Amino acid sequence: MELSYQSMKIAHQAREADEVRTEMKKKSLLILIYQHLLAQGYMAAAVALDQETNGGVRRFEVCDNIDLEMVLMEYESYHYVKFQRYPKLIRRTAEPGENRRARSVGVKRSSCSAVKPLPKIIPSPRPQSGSGSKRPAASSQTNEIGSSVPPESSEFGLNVSSIRNGPAGEAAMNRKGQMTDGKGAGSDSDHMERLLKPLSGFSGMSGEMRQLAAIISRDIYLHSPNVRWEDIIGLEDAKRLVKEAVVYPIKYPQLFTGILSPWKGLLLYGPPGTGKTLLAKAVATECKTTFFNISASSIVSKWRGDSEKLVRVLFELARYHAPSTIFLDELESVMSQRGTSMGGEHEGSRRMKTELLVQMDGLARSEDLVFVLAASNLPWELDHAMLRRLEKRILVSLPTSPARQAMISHWLPPLNSTGGVELRTELDYETLAKEMEGYSGSDITLVCKEAAMRPVRKIFDALESHQDGDDDMPAIQLETVTTADFLEVLAHTKPSARNLMDRYTAWEREYESV
Ligand code: ATP
Repeated sequence: MELSYQSMKIAHQAREADEVRTEMKKKSLLILIYQHLLAQGYMAAAVALDQETNGGVRRFEVCDNIDLEMVLMEYESYHYVKFQRYPKLIRRTAEPGENRRARSVGVKRSSCSAVKPLPKIIPSPRPQSGSGSKRPAASSQTNEIGSSVPPESSEFGLNVSSIRNGPAGEAAMNRKGQMTDGKGAGSDSDHMERLLKPLSGFSGMSGEMRQLAAIISRDIYLHSPNVRWEDIIGLEDAKRLVKEAVVYPIKYPQLFTGILSPWKGLLLYGPPGTGKTLLAKAVATECKTTFFNISASSIVSKWRGDSEKLVRVLFELARYHAPSTIFLDELESVMSQRGTSMGGEHEGSRRMKTELLVQMDGLARSEDLVFVLAASNLPWELDHAMLRRLEKRILVSLPTSPARQAMISHWLPPLNSTGGVELRTELDYETLAKEMEGYSGSDITLVCKEAAMRPVRKIFDALESHQDGDDDMPAIQLETVTTADFLEVLAHTKPSARNLMDRYTAWEREYESV
């Protein structure tokens, strides 16, 4: 009897000790979170936590230099030892009504309730011989201009490999869809929203400046634009120089000291639609720096004096979030030559330009990892003082013949599937590339889109007459896009920048940087 009373007492004490330990663990967790919030500058959240716990988190402090990051690191090591791989710590929560799988393979659901199911649409049989079509090596995954463009899929639709290879192939091929709009499926880290340091930690700022900081912060890319270097066709020199200027100094800082100290500014110039913005997006995707996508509308304010302050805040924010890249698109619209505008220049605009120059000088003198990437279609309009500060200037030229060929075969591969609709092409890529001399990358995209649209346009009547629920509809045949079709589209679409090219090369000769 005595014995069982003793054992009950011991069990009771053990249970109590367990409860105390669990309570302590919960409290420790809150204190670790509180310390983490303070360290990261999330002051408002820290104060709220303190209030909710009636000051409980402030009455304790953590021992042994432990912090949340260390706890996570320990967990990762434990997981690695146990499973030979690192754990996936977080993933995006599904939005209400969102199907996680649909999102993970990049299937975009239409919000349009009027979407009709399509009847079976089949491509017309491929002619055995015909328009003298020569194909680029279809099995090659890397074309001659170094761009990994799979030959049998296209932006204009899903992809053939999903039919052939199943979901694994589909996942691999979905990367293609990211080329221009960046909305395709990527790895989870591509979808991860960037967590910025809170503005409350942005010290020495008045209320007004903090408001301006909030305006500029809207131009920070929180999502990766998902453009990889290999998505950009051609432009090998430009890619190499951009990597040298932005990527390597962050990756290998020990190499970039003294005379090798990194460039602070780089100008991409050239005809419209040649891939300047695409290069900037590749920097944002590949570099993992804080990327400020700034256009004239971000820093030109109608309030006198605000533009100047916005520029200052932009550079201060870039330093705060360093390493950062500031991308100034259409630079000529904010940095045209001073005092050249008709009727004299507005005082506010002159002060804004001066501030931009001063800030660029500040960068050149500092060790901060902040880099300015600018793009312009009209480099001859740029202020000379600004040009001097953009140490590296790169002409992003019209695509070469191999690049044009790769672009056409990228957009219009021999077999191309759009949301279950297969589109076949019989194209002599080499001839078409020759015919498209002087066309920019975006011109080529438009022509390919128009060529792909032709056979689809022809079936609209049949589709329109198809009643909902009418299952007896015969399969509709989609015509093959031929070289002749393509040439016809070409005859109606003129290159947008061919005549400007001489001016760019003349400017390049005059202002070439090494
Ligand atoms: P602008 O000066 O008018 O802003 P840009 O030089 O910045 O033009 P982008 O916006 O980068 O041109 O390119 C426009 C579109 O053209 C891209 O979305 C892409 O579809 C296509 N494109 C242009 N160049 C390339 C390229 N080198 N590789 C792949 N696609 C390209």
